[in-house]
Amino acid sequence: METVRLRKLLSHQQDILSKIALGTPINVILNDICLSIEEIIDDESAKCSILSLKGDQLFHCAAPNIDDKYCQLINGVHIGPSVGSCGTAAYLKSRIIVEDIDNSPLWTDFKELALSFGLKSCWSTPILSTQSNILGTFAIYHTSPKTPSTKDLELIDYFVHFSSIALEKNVESLIVKQLIIDLQQSNEKFKAFTKVMPDLTIIISEEGVYTDIYGSSDELLYSSMCMLINKNVKDVLPKNDALPIMSVIKKTLLTNEVQIFEYQLEVQKGKIIFEGRTAPITHYLPNNPSKRHVVWMARDITLRKQAEKEVERLAFFDPLTNLPNRRMLTERLNMCVERIKRTHKTGALLFLDLDNFKRINDSFGHSAGDELLVDVSKRLNAVTRASDTLARVGGDEFILLLEYVGDDNEQAIIEAEIVAQKIQKIFNVQFEVGRLAFQVSCSIGICLVDNSNSGTDKILKFADSAMYRAKNNGGNRYSFYDPELQTLVEKQTELKNDIVRAIACDEFCAYFQPQISTIGKVIGAEALIRWNHPSKGLIAPNDFIPIAEQYGLMNKLQNIVLHDICVLINRLSAENIIDESFSVSINISHCQFCSSNLKSELINTINDFNIRPSQIKLEITESMLSANIESSTQQMNELKEEGFTFSIDDFGTGYSCLTHLSAFPVNELKIDKSFIDNVLDDGKGFRIVQAIIKLANSLNMSVVAEGVEASEQFEILKAIHIDSIQGYLIAKPMIQNDYVKWHNHNVDFIK
Ligand code: C2E
Ligand code: CA
Ligand code: CA
Repeated sequence: METVRLRKLLSHQQDILSKIALGTPINVILNDICLSIEEIIDDESAKCSILSLKGDQLFHCAAPNIDDKYCQLINGVHIGPSVGSCGTAAYLKSRIIVEDIDNSPLWTDFKELALSFGLKSCWSTPILSTQSNILGTFAIYHTSPKTPSTKDLELIDYFVHFSSIALEKNVESLIVKQLIIDLQQSNEKFKAFTKVMPDLTIIISEEGVYTDIYGSSDELLYSSMCMLINKNVKDVLPKNDALPIMSVIKKTLLTNEVQIFEYQLEVQKGKIIFEGRTAPITHYLPNNPSKRHVVWMARDITLRKQAEKEVERLAFFDPLTNLPNRRMLTERLNMCVERIKRTHKTGALLFLDLDNFKRINDSFGHSAGDELLVDVSKRLNAVTRASDTLARVGGDEFILLLEYVGDDNEQAIIEAEIVAQKIQKIFNVQFEVGRLAFQVSCSIGICLVDNSNSGTDKILKFADSAMYRAKNNGGNRYSFYDPELQTLVEKQTELKNDIVRAIACDEFCAYFQPQISTIGKVIGAEALIRWNHPSKGLIAPNDFIPIAEQYGLMNKLQNIVLHDICVLINRLSAENIIDESFSVSINISHCQFCSSNLKSELINTINDFNIRPSQIKLEITESMLSANIESSTQQMNELKEEGFTFSIDDFGTGYSCLTHLSAFPVNELKIDKSFIDNVLDDGKGFRIVQAIIKLANSLNMSVVAEGVEASEQFEILKAIHIDSIQGYLIAKPMIQNDYVKWHNHNVDFIK
């Protein structure tokens, strides 16, 4: 290159490079590059154009001497294998020299456009980056077809090089600018996020130094954020809190894994339960990249923990007394049984039931009942050891599980008794509820827990049945579970089920035993229930009535008997062998007598058979009368008004208050068989019977003797003016058909 051109080139080079270094806008620099080459290159008609490549499109950058319209029209052209000189050069990454646009196949689609702007040749060189990526194209156009000289190409290469520096620098600065924008945006996001974040995020160094703290408030911190920064955990927190935190940091860095854990700290807000999560961060400090840190996220989970505790409390504790409930008790009992299997020691389960709680609850309301139960639970708690479990398992039922009461059963029984007595003692003092005071007692069933009875269900059942025994024996006492008793209970349940079945199968019926007056006239009969069992034969009432009463089945049995009575009376009336004075006695059980349905049940049935109440005599016992004088009188008066009559059964065996006897509408006294048995020995037996007859006469009641077996008995009773007799001497209780036959034959028993 000759000296003048070289000098020019040098001065342009310095100018361009200094502009690049000074950060002059890219289009100014590229424009200068165009003007510089146009000035230096030999041909004065040379016009330079620089395009930049984005994706697969070329965009206009600088072309100071080419018509703007042309530049706009080719702006954004897609590169390809025959897209003019520039599009092809960028596509093929190599220089494309088109000396004559008019005849070049590369220009087929664009030549009209180029020629219309007077452009006839075009040499295009791709501008490559240092990494050999295409940044754009550098083109020289001429207004006539033209071939480049070696010098031209050398010169072009110089300027392509400058263009490359300028474009690459520009791309870099664009990237940096974009990075700064992105960083600012992410920083803003981060700031906003930490402003609302309820959790704390702490960056802590491997030595335990608070490096950064993020969070919306410092309530959850030990002290303010600025006070903590650069301080060591070990110097800030109490030793007991700092040590576990340091070990979590150590573990996080050692395992390189996220750690999740719970911990408790007394911070500015108060005593807080936290859920902590840690993860290692590398290169946290750019100027000290080898230093290791941990990001520590701390979340206040105090409320959640409280709620969980509450849920657990509700599931395992009785809300009224705060004592463990049945569920918790069962769990503890399971554990206790497991332990006893290993240790071979003995524990005990005490089942407590208050004796008169229902009455208090019914008469004084549930809130009084509740208050009483809370008081009971407090007193029980006071006599319970920490290792024992006291639970409330039902309305007024408590269970005390004693984990250990001895090494063997003998010792265990003694220990369990001591505890039971201690429990009974707490009931010695009255319970005060508001202004009321109650004397309460409890029945306790005790079942020892040893290797022999390992099922928790069984243990509970056994203690429960022992409690029932205590209750049946009058309450206010304790009773141990006894396997014999258990067999009895099981037999009873079996019997109950059998009764239910038998009722459905019509196996019950009434037998009838006649009653005659002293002159031999049949004046009535007593209906006595029988069970005609398919496999066991005829079963007497004493073997099933107590169970039927206990399980509430008496009502059904009574209706069967009443039905049979009605059928009999109608049969006898139809045969014209009885008059209106003939009555049939029915035994009324205690529970039926107390029932408010008794009257309606009786009336409904006899109405169905068109029978008058006066033909039905209700046999009740003395004990029923004395149980509740007021309600008994009312019940009897109501029935009397309907026309029913009453006989006092087993008279003399109860302790009836004679002063009250006159107050009841009683028609007849039935002297118990035990007195009749003794009436023949001149002593006490005779005098009692005589006294009863006198008493009855004075109260205007008639007297019937039951269980008369011998004619001597009959004679003596007649002598002291008894009204009527019943017993094997006359006839045994008979099935209805037999009774009707008997009655027909014996209308006048003594002929
Ligand atoms: P109870 O009411 O005292 O009945 C008299 C019992 O003495 C009857 O026994 C009867 O068969 C028996 N008996 C009658 N005369 C003689 C006699 O001369 N010698 C002896 N050794 N016994 C005699 P049963 O039928 O076994 O009834 C037992 C108890 O069952 C009855 O005692 C009564 O309390 C009850 N009972 C019977 N039927 C019914 C009923 O339908 N309802 C209710 N609630 N209880 C009934
Ligand atoms: Ca009777
Ligand atoms: Ca009797």
